[in-house]
Amino acid sequence: MKLADIFSNIQKSLLGRRRALRQSKGFLRVPRLRVNWVLLICMMPGLLSAATIKHARLWSAPDSTQLVLDVSGEVSHQLLSLSKPDRIVIDVMDVKCNVDFSRLNIKDTPIVRVRSAVRNGHDVRVVLDLRKPLKPRSNLLKPNEQYGHRLVIDLIDEAADTSAKVTHSVDEHTDKRNIVVVVDAGHGGEDPGALGPGRVREKDVVFAITKELQALLQQQRGFDVKLTRTGDYYVDLRQRTRLARKYNADLFVSVHADAFKRPDAEGASVWVLSDRGADSEMGRWLSRRENGADLIGGAGSVTLNDKDDVLAGVLLDLSMTASLKASLGVGEHVLKSVGKVAQLHKGRVEHAGFVVLKSPDIPSLLVETGFISNPSESRLLKTKKYQQRIAEAVQDGIQEYFKRTPPPGSLLAWDQQQRLLASAENTVSRYEVRRGDTLSQIARNHDVSVDELMTYNRLNSSQVRIGQVIRIPST
Ligand SMILES: [Zn+2]
Repeated sequence: MKLADIFSNIQKSLLGRRRALRQSKGFLRVPRLRVNWVLLICMMPGLLSAATIKHARLWSAPDSTQLVLDVSGEVSHQLLSLSKPDRIVIDVMDVKCNVDFSRLNIKDTPIVRVRSAVRNGHDVRVVLDLRKPLKPRSNLLKPNEQYGHRLVIDLIDEAADTSAKVTHSVDEHTDKRNIVVVVDAGHGGEDPGALGPGRVREKDVVFAITKELQALLQQQRGFDVKLTRTGDYYVDLRQRTRLARKYNADLFVSVHADAFKRPDAEGASVWVLSDRGADSEMGRWLSRRENGADLIGGAGSVTLNDKDDVLAGVLLDLSMTASLKASLGVGEHVLKSVGKVAQLHKGRVEHAGFVVLKSPDIPSLLVETGFISNPSESRLLKTKKYQQRIAEAVQDGIQEYFKRTPPPGSLLAWDQQQRLLASAENTVSRYEVRRGDTLSQIARNHDVSVDELMTYNRLNSSQVRIGQVIRIPST
């Protein structure tokens, strides 16, 4: 065969192959030109050899399950959802399979059984038998630091209502509400986050720290702590802020660990939303407010969709400004307290447009607990002791801030009020009534009004008697 013919055949083969892939029929329609195939394989490695399914794993979240297939290259696939009985069919075209699907750990998932078979001689069909109807969604992911090409199938439990607001828990003695802190462990599941020397993974380190932080803060009077992820699975970034809103959070804290190409980069840092991030987010809320579902204002929710542009803009701006101010306030306390146990990257709270910081109604922080890419910090970060110390420091900072600035109606606000009253009580002076005294005279002498004296001493009349002790409030 002449070289020109070979190339024209190669072209035809390629076109045929593409068409075949589109029609999900695989190799069979491609003309059989052995010589050309061999040439092609030599010239374009990877293009022709059928992909292989190398591994499979399952991640289980409360309202979704994720099946991940590691594939050796890009693959085409089809999803089919069937009922009676509920099952999902995944057809992966033109692929070899090295996975025994029956060995997947389906414990704690809505999957009852996984079956697989070869179809048409070159496709692989995987069937997931389900306990209940789930909505499938698929995605082809490009290689990252840890994994190669992946076909990801999410099974979403739409019946699990994740949008309904949760009411605040209340202290049984005082009837006052607890402050809700939502703690967010970065990354998870398929997303390992930063990777450190010795296979230390950010998602594991930060999850351990958030669990510690939850346990510590939950023990404190007046706090209730929720996690955005309770295991090793990925949660969408916007979903993390939606969860904070669902829990009526007073504070959202995302926990991460940094990585940098230079291994000597080191130190913990605390981040709040940048002005630019805030501006773009407000624009997004305003343009989306017709959708109705979005509320701002946490406990005293304000809806934006019945307001005109100007008013909605002003309300949003007020809310965002207040949230940013509070974020910075907590951030400074947390940074100071973390600085006592860890090296700091910079001596001040930093600003960035991270998606998880963008709630206009919830003060939000992101804590980078150190550089996992730095060998000595990575060594520390993976130890339980250091994780505890970092968690304690973050807890201290949060607690200190809320002790000084408790949200109205909270148990800590009530505590603060009691402390103020008690200290007022201590500074009160007492006066014993002598012959000839009148209440108005006593009031004048102590620079208070008769009314104040009567209220303070719970008097029904302005008559006083000799020897009676009148408590004088400090002015
Ligand atoms: Zn991270």
